[in-house]
Amino acid sequence: VNGSGTAANAALAVDLGGTMLKAALITRAGEARGLRRVATPARAAPREVAGLLIETMRALMDETGQREDEIAGVGVSMAAFVTAEGRVTATAHLAPEWVGVDLRELLRPALPANYYFALDTPAPALGEAYFGAGRGLDDFAYVTVSTGIGAGIVSQGKVFIGGLGWAGGVGHLIVEPNGPRRCDGCGNLGCLETYAARQGVLALAQEAMSEFPHSALHETARPLSPRLIFEAAQAGDAAARQVFARAGYYLGLGLTNMINVLSPRCIVVGGGIAQAGDLLLEPARAVIRQSAYPPAHRQVPVVPAALGDLSGLYGAAAMVFHDIRVNPVEAETNAD
Ligand SMILES: [Zn+2]
Repeated sequence: VNGSGTAANAALAVDLGGTMLKAALITRAGEARGLRRVATPARAAPREVAGLLIETMRALMDETGQREDEIAGVGVSMAAFVTAEGRVTATAHLAPEWVGVDLRELLRPALPANYYFALDTPAPALGEAYFGAGRGLDDFAYVTVSTGIGAGIVSQGKVFIGGLGWAGGVGHLIVEPNGPRRCDGCGNLGCLETYAARQGVLALAQEAMSEFPHSALHETARPLSPRLIFEAAQAGDAAARQVFARAGYYLGLGLTNMINVLSPRCIVVGGGIAQAGDLLLEPARAVIRQSAYPPAHRQVPVVPAALGDLSGLYGAAAMVFHDIRVNPVEAETNAD
């Protein structure tokens, strides 16, 4: 199937995240051509974002010399509960006007193609399954630690979505019932996201700064970001290191709960905050080694995504190449 120059040898892949929009032309062999990363206009109206997507995909085709009839399809991973057909039913990280929007109907007139849409947790799980750290594994979970936290679950070689369609909401596991902050996503107290997603890391940094009056974080550029906190931690700042130790501890609680329920062979961790690597993952592994049950669960490997921040993009392409429709039945996949 990896022959060159066949009509269906490439997919247009889009990853519309809460923070970044990525796009590339991806070949069956796994080459990403024309890759671009731009800030997501997260508060922009859907029609405006659709216009940007069309413009981006057209530019990709021009740049790589691909004609429309040489594209196997368009795959879109997005930070929204979206059906395989492109209808958005809920979103925490894009503008509220997205709810009810049919993105395929906004894109297809300008760019006719086979379209595939998925939430940005099953999509990157598929990326890792076909192109990354999940190759050869029939049972694993991909966990993104980013603006939010969520899991894509591969079970018996297929994406597991559950009966209502949205399995994997590990970011809303309550890890501290009397937690001090409301979750930006669901509004509850003590969700994992309030400790280890972007809002959690920023809040932990505020706490650490009051505990460490001489921390370099006080002098760091504003607005503070997980990346800046990571850089301070790498430079040895004790407060910044404490932020990742605490976020990693809570991430470990969430992963332990997930491992005990799913019994996966492996956990693949991706997303922007996971770029902190072992600073975040080692405290998480320590919790799993100590707390997961039965004992076999304590040995579940926690590894970084092989595709870095491109798992979702590769997953978007994998949906196209393997004809995978993640949430195909609109009537039964209403996130409300
Ligand atoms: Zn929540």
